[in-house]
Amino acid sequence: MHGLMMDTPLLITDLIRFADRNHGDTEIVSKTAEGSIHRYTYRDAHARARRLAKALQALGVKASERVGTLAWNGYRHYELYYAISGIGAVINTINPRLFPDQITYISNHAENTALFFDLTFVPLVEKLAPQLKSVKHFVLMTDRAHMPARTAIPGLLCYEELMQKQDDRFEWPAFDERTAAALCYTSGTTGNPKGVLYGHRSTVLHAYGAALPDALDLSARDAVLPVVPMFHANAWSLPYACTMVGAKMVFPGPHLDGKSVYELIEQEKVTLSAGVPTVWLMLLQHLAAQKVKFSTLKRTVIGGSACPPAMIRAFQEEYGVTVFHAWGMTEMSPLGTVGSLKARQAALSKEEQRAVQAKQGRGIFGVDMKIVDEEGKELPWDGKRFGNLLVRGPWIASGYMKGEGGDVLKDGWFPTGDVATIDPDGYMQITDRSKDVIKSGGEWISSIDLENIAVAHPAIQEAAVIGIRHPKWDERPIVVAVKKAGQELTREELLKFYEGKIAKWWMPDDVVFVPELPHTATGKLSKLTLREKFKDYRLPG
Ligand code: AMP
Repeated sequence: MHGLMMDTPLLITDLIRFADRNHGDTEIVSKTAEGSIHRYTYRDAHARARRLAKALQALGVKASERVGTLAWNGYRHYELYYAISGIGAVINTINPRLFPDQITYISNHAENTALFFDLTFVPLVEKLAPQLKSVKHFVLMTDRAHMPARTAIPGLLCYEELMQKQDDRFEWPAFDERTAAALCYTSGTTGNPKGVLYGHRSTVLHAYGAALPDALDLSARDAVLPVVPMFHANAWSLPYACTMVGAKMVFPGPHLDGKSVYELIEQEKVTLSAGVPTVWLMLLQHLAAQKVKFSTLKRTVIGGSACPPAMIRAFQEEYGVTVFHAWGMTEMSPLGTVGSLKARQAALSKEEQRAVQAKQGRGIFGVDMKIVDEEGKELPWDGKRFGNLLVRGPWIASGYMKGEGGDVLKDGWFPTGDVATIDPDGYMQITDRSKDVIKSGGEWISSIDLENIAVAHPAIQEAAVIGIRHPKWDERPIVVAVKKAGQELTREELLKFYEGKIAKWWMPDDVVFVPELPHTATGKLSKLTLREKFKDYRLPG
């Protein structure tokens, strides 16, 4: 129709162009793998991203080709985010904590033609290089002074040398906003890791959603420290969303221990940070041991795994830092819900407020949610009934790279594999994962609830609840737990601890104490490994 709005494409490079124009002097600070602190501005970053785009083209990287990275959060990785996508190619951020075989699998599956990596990963790449069949160029993300004297990596190139050969006179090409921009593999599915392909349009829309006040609440007044890695689901969009709003960015590099994160937060006057619970546990331990507080940190986003209520309490009551509990998936770019409070909840007691915040949060506009029973029938948002959580929206995967896993959508909705309740206010709470879920006599049992009770016992360090095959009930839950050092506890004592806290039929059938539980490369409990270990386990009686 005549007079309708312009149809300009939503492209990732527009974010950095905008930041250069409007927030040119705002800083990006990085702790580097070389051990130094690097600082420059959005204006510098934009100039260097253009130089890098020319360097990529000089290497022969073409539109739609994949380029891999094995890198920490830092300014060169940020430049690669913009330069690779900016020329119409696809950045494949690979998680360096995966098993080497998985890294090889991913790089070969993605058919990466170049691999950029930090100094830390030289030994890893030396080992993997012969198997990385598609990679024509290995580029070390450092300067000449830090290049290794000798290396087994064929034709190893130096990032800064490639940059020096170019200038920054470069116009970002315009193309269809539905062009692929980034690729991240997830191990949160059965079988081999599967590729999730983000587009320019989905990435820009997701950044808008992420910046909203009831999402991550980002602005030009913030200094943001993404602890969440840029190799895991786009660091929850922060490299895009912070650029969109002109927030100062602070990258921690490989230094993620409590002391380093704390010092960086203080030095750079960080106002918001984001990461998984494990990282915050280390930070809280550091604060308690050193008896120090934050001077500028106001908010922290905690997600990727359920944020324990005790952690919300510690941040808010002891340190005056508001917790935003967030839930999402690699397949969702990744943001789905964030747990900010509504106006009328201001009247609730602190404890009641924390109970709301312990839920996974409310949907962001752009993420449609529904919960369904086994027949696919939609369940009410009553905060009680729980069912499979399905999502849809413009930044949610429609399937996996190369069609792996087949047609995953159910009537146009993406099944998250999470089981959840949604209350009348729209707060979603995860009660379990369907791939882990324990089904007894046709009814769900929440392993997360059972784990929360176990870890509330003073003698328990960590606990996992898994389903064990049962001839009558199909599955029954058992607790696999790690005791705190020097603590005594029997199977009977722990089972007694459950009494009165759960329905009788939820009572675990057994307790097994182990020295340690298996974790995935991203630090989550690996129920898959645990279930594998216990697959021949016989229940007592
Ligand atoms: P990933 O794709 O590795 O980010 O994993 C996504 C999965 O992690 C989700 O489907 C959930 O099962 C889990 N997850 C993410 N955030 C949370 C959270 N806040 N609470 C509980 N589980 C979460």
